[in-house]
Amino acid sequence: MFLSRHFNCVPLVEGIYCLEAKEQGGAMSNAGLIDMGDYTLIFDTFNTPQAGKDLRDAALYYFNKPIRYIVNSHWHGDHVRGNQFFSDEVIISSSRTRELMIKTQPDWLARMKKLLPNLEEDLTKLNTSLELKLNDSKQRELLSQIGYLQEIKESILTLEVTLPQLTYDRKMTIHGSARTVELLSVGTAHTECDSILFSPSDSLAFVGDIVAVDNHPLVVDGNPLSWLEALTYVERLDVNIIVPGHGPVTQKHYLQQIKRYINDIIHISESLIREDMNVDVNHIEIPEPYLGWNYGSIFYRNLEFLAKAASN
Ligand SMILES: [Zn+2]
Repeated sequence: MFLSRHFNCVPLVEGIYCLEAKEQGGAMSNAGLIDMGDYTLIFDTFNTPQAGKDLRDAALYYFNKPIRYIVNSHWHGDHVRGNQFFSDEVIISSSRTRELMIKTQPDWLARMKKLLPNLEEDLTKLNTSLELKLNDSKQRELLSQIGYLQEIKESILTLEVTLPQLTYDRKMTIHGSARTVELLSVGTAHTECDSILFSPSDSLAFVGDIVAVDNHPLVVDGNPLSWLEALTYVERLDVNIIVPGHGPVTQKHYLQQIKRYINDIIHISESLIREDMNVDVNHIEIPEPYLGWNYGSIFYRNLEFLAKAASN
């Protein structure tokens, strides 16, 4: 078993692993290793170069064959910041995802380099908050934030923005000697353009952040209505195992749960608008089914975003 402080390696079917992010390492999101037969394909590269390095080592450890392709599901940093360890291989994304990476990642890095001296202060503040008596969910979120900042601090001086070299628009089929997989763009969902990787022979899909398990999914960079359509599209595939961008591996039925969440936050934001344009979303209680989910703060960001969008 390959051991990393960033992720746990979960075998799914013969030749496919989910590298599931640990709560406090530098991974932040899940990645995938796929044995294509004559080479290895990797889905997403985590949040930091240090986790990306372990990702590369894990791929070589399990399959002991050349790594050929890396897929970036969407532009968010926690899925692409390990890219620099794959500069000799071919990194693939949708055209729009590549454009969004160019638009966001160099700026983010420049901003973080400037903020580096403040990071230590932030960490001290967060560690002080930890001593307060908070509920379990808030305590977990704080611990994750501390872990996140520590890993970012470590990564910021070595991080190099590394872009995809190969782009596609709607669908790309990749053939290996052991299996054939499809990259499918599901359009605007969690971001302006999300890609999934579907392996028909395994009834399995890596779906990036259009599914988060036991974690609040973030809607502020995408569109909740077309996201619902994207989930219906995935439901229509002959798929059983779903590897989410965050949280443990799940099955097709969980797509309904994400649909319910999106519909619920749309309804809550609509009722906010009806009642009072200036209502403070922080007074809303997180609905019972989602109370135990990680990153409760995302629930409030989502509501603010939707309330603002609806009032425009
Ligand atoms: Zn994301």
